Amino acid sequence: MKEALYYQAEKDGAVRCTLCPHQCLLSDEQFGICGVRQNINGRLYSLVYEKVIARHSDPIEKKPLFHVHPGSTSFSVATMGCNFKCRFCQNHEISQVRRSNNRQISGEIFTASDVVQTARQIGCKTIACTYTEPTIYYEYAFDIARLAQKAGLQTVWISNGYISAAPLEEIAPFLAAANIDLKAWDDNFYRRQVGGDLQSVLQTLASLKRLGVWLEVTTLVIPGVTDSEEQMRSIAEFIRDELGPETPWHLSRFYPHFAYTHLLPTREETLHSAREIGLQSGLRYVYSGNVPGDPGEHTFCYQCGEQVIQRYGFHVLENRLVKGCCPKCSTPIDGIGM
Ligand code: SF4
Repeated sequence: MKEALYYQAEKDGAVRCTLCPHQCLLSDEQFGICGVRQNINGRLYSLVYEKVIARHSDPIEKKPLFHVHPGSTSFSVATMGCNFKCRFCQNHEISQVRRSNNRQISGEIFTASDVVQTARQIGCKTIACTYTEPTIYYEYAFDIARLAQKAGLQTVWISNGYISAAPLEEIAPFLAAANIDLKAWDDNFYRRQVGGDLQSVLQTLASLKRLGVWLEVTTLVIPGVTDSEEQMRSIAEFIRDELGPETPWHLSRFYPHFAYTHLLPTREETLHSAREIGLQSGLRYVYSGNVPGDPGEHTFCYQCGEQVIQRYGFHVLENRLVKGCCPKCSTPIDGIGM
């Protein structure tokens, strides 16, 4: 348990958590929406500090971050909890604390310095705060990122982008890259199916860009829900105009999950059309995800069209870049450690 970094005292022993846009107002003993922050005697505590529920060495492509040290591994950690309630969550067993186990917060103690040491020992280039939502284990993620930077490792976040401006500004200098979910171009969807709002996520994306963090964006393409041509075009144009055409966009195939078992998996043709919309809008790198073997998994030079990185699923089969540039026309391919 660790006292939270972002909260303020309110009347009658209540506290307001200011870490994410929910701004939960909590009376004594009450938990926040994320289920892992609690008011204890007028102080707010993180109940998941250094309490990992998952840790693994993953290909960085699995995050997905296709333009950060391609072919490397990323030591990936998570605690329980999330400030969203996505009804299609693929990790709901560990993200939905209240629903899954009546607020039992599982996990084993694994300190921030354990994380950094392990990452170094097994030769990872990066540490990923991922699987659930890094914002809700902010104090742990912050300590990891600070120690990692000292040890010459980079930290990346895989996040829903639902975080307040001040904590984001504070941690950004310690983050090399982030993949942010932009789940839909539909505020109603965010409010009803996710438990958040679109504008806050767009603000986080714009702030990360301004703060110099390398960005990639993921959209889960849910059939009949988030897959309309208008939504795809709006997202692609937002990425192009506000984040820059160099920002990779990952279009991820939906599979029935959690409360969304009534839908079929995304058709491959739908993913291909969405990818085409992204490319026609002027984005340099648009990828199909969750479809191993699809041509949309590879990286192509945006100038001459040459295939420069060949992938299968999360694995790089061939990296033809020469000092980060296209081997045919010498155009630099955007990213970190390309
Ligand atoms: S981090 Fe948790 S407690 Fe804090 S405002 Fe967000 S949901 Fe509420």
